[in-house]
Amino acid sequence: MKKTFETLIDRLLYPSIGVRILLVFTIMILEGVSAYTVHLTGGTTYSYIHVFYIPIILAGTIFGFSGGGFAALLAFALTHPSILASDVALGTPQSLENWAFRGIFFMLIGFLSGVSASIFRRFLKSREERLLRDSITGLPNFLGLRKVFRKRHADLENDQPSVIVILIRRLQEIDTAVGPNTTEKLLWNVGQDLKNAVDDCTTVGSLGTGGFALLVDPKKSCEQIIETCKKQLGPVYTIDKIPLFLEIHYGVVHGESAKEPLSSLLRKAKIAAGLAVENERTSMRFEKEDDAKSKRNVALIHDFSEAIRNNELNLHYQPKISFKTGRVIGVEALVRWKHPKYGMIPPNEFIPLSETTVLINPFTKWLVQESFKQLARWRERKFPITLSLNFSMKNFQDPTVVEEIHKIRKLYEIPPSDLEIEVTESAVANDINKVADILLNLHKQGIKIAVDDFGTGHSALHYLFELPFDIIKIDQVFIRSMLSNSAADAIVRSAILLGHELNLQVVAEGIETKEEFDRLKSMGCDIAQGFWFARPMPAELATSWIDSKLKQDLRIRKEVKKGG
Ligand code: C2E
Ligand code: CA
Ligand code: CA
Repeated sequence: MKKTFETLIDRLLYPSIGVRILLVFTIMILEGVSAYTVHLTGGTTYSYIHVFYIPIILAGTIFGFSGGGFAALLAFALTHPSILASDVALGTPQSLENWAFRGIFFMLIGFLSGVSASIFRRFLKSREERLLRDSITGLPNFLGLRKVFRKRHADLENDQPSVIVILIRRLQEIDTAVGPNTTEKLLWNVGQDLKNAVDDCTTVGSLGTGGFALLVDPKKSCEQIIETCKKQLGPVYTIDKIPLFLEIHYGVVHGESAKEPLSSLLRKAKIAAGLAVENERTSMRFEKEDDAKSKRNVALIHDFSEAIRNNELNLHYQPKISFKTGRVIGVEALVRWKHPKYGMIPPNEFIPLSETTVLINPFTKWLVQESFKQLARWRERKFPITLSLNFSMKNFQDPTVVEEIHKIRKLYEIPPSDLEIEVTESAVANDINKVADILLNLHKQGIKIAVDDFGTGHSALHYLFELPFDIIKIDQVFIRSMLSNSAADAIVRSAILLGHELNLQVVAEGIETKEEFDRLKSMGCDIAQGFWFARPMPAELATSWIDSKLKQDLRIRKEVKKGG
C-alpha cells in the first residue's frame, strides 16, 4: 500500500512523456469545463469564475513556471468578453478592464504555483539525493541501490539478478588504528576504484562500514568482474601518508528468481563474503546449504540465552591422572548443550557463536557457578582433586569476571590452588597485551594457568616467559600421531623438555591407547588425560568414577606398603 502511494507520488512529480501529454489534455479539458461552468452558473460576476484556478494551479504544479503561465493565458482567452458575459441572465457584457485585471491574477497564480512547485520539487530532489546516497563515498546506499534494482527489474522481467558484496577485512581495526577521517578517505578511494573497475551496466553501491555491493547485469559474468576489481583495488592504499594494506573478499549470489528482493540477495552475498573471510578465500559463491547453516547459527544464538536459563546446558567432567602415581588428581569441566530441536551440539560449535554476542558473559558466570558448586561437593567428600575450566579470551570480556571468580570461590570455600584456568595458545599469542593483566591477576590469587592446545597456535613462544603459566597441555594431534610419526614424537618430547626447563607441569591430552600412555610416561610427562582412562562424564558418573578410583588407589597404596 505504502509502495503504491510512493509510486503514485513519484509518477505525479516526475511524469513520463505519455503522462505529460495526457495531463496537458486534462488541463485543457478542465479549462473548457470551467468556462462552461461559469456560463451555466450565471456569468463572470458570480464566484464560479474561481474554478479556473484549479487547472491553472494544476498546470503550474506539474509543469512549473511555463505550464502555469500557459494555463493562465488559456484561461484568459476563454474568459474573453466575447465568450463569457458578466451576467448571462441579464445579458450584461464584461468590461474589458475586469477581464484584463482577472487575466493578470490568472498569470500571477500560474507563475506563483509554478515557482513554488519548482522550489518544492528541487527540495524533494535534494532530500531524495541525500536519502539515497552514502554520505562518505557518495555512492548509492541500500535505498539507492534498491531504487536502481527495482527500475532495472521492471525492464528485465525474467532475468535472474546477481549481486556481489565486497568486504574489507579488519576495517574496524583499521578504523581504531587510524581514526574515522582516514577511514572515510580510504572508503571513498575504494569506492572510486570500484566505479572505475566496472562498466556502466554494473551499479556500485556502498553498504556503509559493511562494505560495498555491485548490482550485476545478468548478461555479465561475476567472476570476470571480480577479476577486474582485484586488479583495480589496492592492495595498498596510502591515505594521509599512512600505507594501509587491505584484504578484500568477495561474496557472490545469483538470484533464485527475478522476483527475489534485493535485501535477500544482499543477505546471501554477505554470508558468502563472510565465508570467504572464514575460509581465507578471495571470493565465494553463495550456496543453499550456507543459508541453512547461517539460519541454524542465528537460531542457536537466539536459543543460547534460553538454554542458560532453562538448564539445557550441563557440565561433563573428564578425569586427569598422574603418570607417576597413577592417581586421579583433577578434572576438566567441558560444557554440553542438548538443544530441544537439534540435539547435542558440540561446544566447538556453540562457544564461538556465543562469543559473537554478549551472551558469553552470562555463560561464563554460569560456568563458574556450576563448576565451583560441584567442586565444593567433591571437597565435602574429601576428593583431592583440582578443577580446570576452559576460558577463551572472550570470557574475559566482562571486566567483573575475575572478581566474580574470586567471589564464588570464597562462597564455596575453595582454595585457589584447586583451580586451573585453561586458555588456548592461539588466544594468548594473538592478544598478549589484553590477557596479561587478567592472567597475572588470577595467578596472583593463586589460581593456576594452563596453555591449552600447546603446539598448534603460534610459532613464537615469547608469551611463555611473559605470562604466568604453570601448565602446558600438549595438543591431541601430536599425541594421536606420535607413535606413527617421528616428527610428532619429537615435538612431544621437546614440549615436555621445554615445559620442565621452564618449571611447568606438562599434560598430555587425548590419550586413547596404552601404547601412547607408556610412551608419554617414558618421556617423563606429568599428567595424562584421555579416553583411555575416562571420557568426559556427567557430574554423578564422574563422582562414582573418582570415588572408585580413589578407593582403588588407596588399596594399591596399602598393598605396596604391606609388600614393602
Ligand atoms: P579442549 O579444551 O581441548 O578439550 C578437550 C576436548 O578433547 C574435549 O572435547 C574432550 O572431550 C576431547 N577429548 C578428551 N580426551 C580425548 C581423547 O582421548 N580422544 C579424543 N578424540 N578426544 C578427547 P569437547 O568436550 O568436545 O570440547 C571441545 C572444545 O570445546 C574444548 O577443547 C574447548 O576448547 C571447548 N570447550 C568445552 N567446554 C568449554 C567451556 O566451558 N568454555 C570454553 N571457552 N570452551 C569450552
Ligand atoms: Ca581444555
Ligand atoms: Ca586442548
